[in-house]
Amino acid sequence: MKYWVKRTHAELDRKITEALARNVSYTQNVCLGVPASTLDQHVFYEHAAFLKDAPLLRAYVQNPNHIGCHTFGDSEPFFEGTHELEKELIELLCVDMFKAADHSCDGYVASGGTEANIQAAWIYRNYFVSEHSAAQNQIALLSSADTHYSVAKAANLLNIEMYTVPVNDNDRQIEYIQLDRTVKQAIAAGISYFIVFCNMGTTMFGSVDSPDLYKQVLDANDVLFKLHVDGAFGGFVYPMTDKKSQLNFANPVVSSITLDAHKMLQAPYGTGIFLARKGLMQHAYTKHASYVSGMDMTLSGSRGGVNAIAIWMILFTYGHFGWLEKINKLLYRTQWICDKLDKLGVAYYCHPRMNIVTIRAAHIAPALADKYKLVPNNHHGDAAWYKIVVMDHVSIDQLQAFIRDLQNELVKI
Ligand SMILES: *Cc1c(COP(=O)(O)O)cnc(C)c1O
Repeated sequence: MKYWVKRTHAELDRKITEALARNVSYTQNVCLGVPASTLDQHVFYEHAAFLKDAPLLRAYVQNPNHIGCHTFGDSEPFFEGTHELEKELIELLCVDMFKAADHSCDGYVASGGTEANIQAAWIYRNYFVSEHSAAQNQIALLSSADTHYSVAKAANLLNIEMYTVPVNDNDRQIEYIQLDRTVKQAIAAGISYFIVFCNMGTTMFGSVDSPDLYKQVLDANDVLFKLHVDGAFGGFVYPMTDKKSQLNFANPVVSSITLDAHKMLQAPYGTGIFLARKGLMQHAYTKHASYVSGMDMTLSGSRGGVNAIAIWMILFTYGHFGWLEKINKLLYRTQWICDKLDKLGVAYYCHPRMNIVTIRAAHIAPALADKYKLVPNNHHGDAAWYKIVVMDHVSIDQLQAFIRDLQNELVKI
């Protein structure tokens, strides 16, 4: 670990205070030209006593704008103090979590996994057009049937075709022949360039796709592709639990990654993360963004710097080992419930290194699913699966209560 250490609250407070002091002060400097200020002081009083020990809330009141991508080129000088914290967290994730060489990647804090996925598709569509003179209708998105619907949103917004590869019902994996068949169908329909969305933890199952299978099949079909990893759910879990993971920047096939700090990291909403190898962000550059210092190559535009600071605080409060321990605690609980389900003969899917257990709906009465707030794979009344996501609040006591109720129902059946 190069950067990812544990720091005390006092250290974090001092660094945030210093960063805020390097941002523009609307009261101490004259600042006439930016359409920005602190939060409204009539409503959110800056000198409230409880803010003293709460650096994140102080940042919230100062309201820094992190418009643009700070790892590349210039950024707005008004907020350079807190931009620095965002750059630190992006570099930490790229190098320590995703095995990139130092300063070889760009990234920014997006509104969520949806935005980060759209950012990826947007970059690659433009990349194929500008670098390979692709026509819009020769480019397609390619991903598994268990992929998050944000990828379908990206296809719709960017006006490109989307091809979905079926997965096995039991192990949620894509087979070579199925992928090959889908790719050949796309090629027959005129597609020559593929934007692959490879899942590092699907939303419903926590299943993980193989980037190398995509490479094998697309290379065998002699077409160009770019591969994006959707780690919105699994991004803070899988790299910790599978030391042999191929879903990182040490793998030349991987070009970019989506993460969501507002899922497993329990950061405030608005903390998606987009990471990409250098040389790619430029493809989302809009030259009309001339009033912003540097270049805005993000989908967001203005965005709250406080979101980046929240992620930064969480990562440095735990440190690498603290986070490893927390994830292992969740995996322990996951294993606990899997063992109980095995004993009861209940069919389920669970990736051994992920914290989702997805149970066949045949074993679960709707009232039980409702009582424990299990989430179905669809809400149209014909659910095939119900999932348990083992989050911090999902204790073994709660899981035990669920197992008891489930056992009683199974006896009745
Ligand atoms: C949640 C999720 C998304 C979308 O993320 P939002 O933060 O809700 O926009 C995308 N992909 C996967 C795999 C997800 O789990």
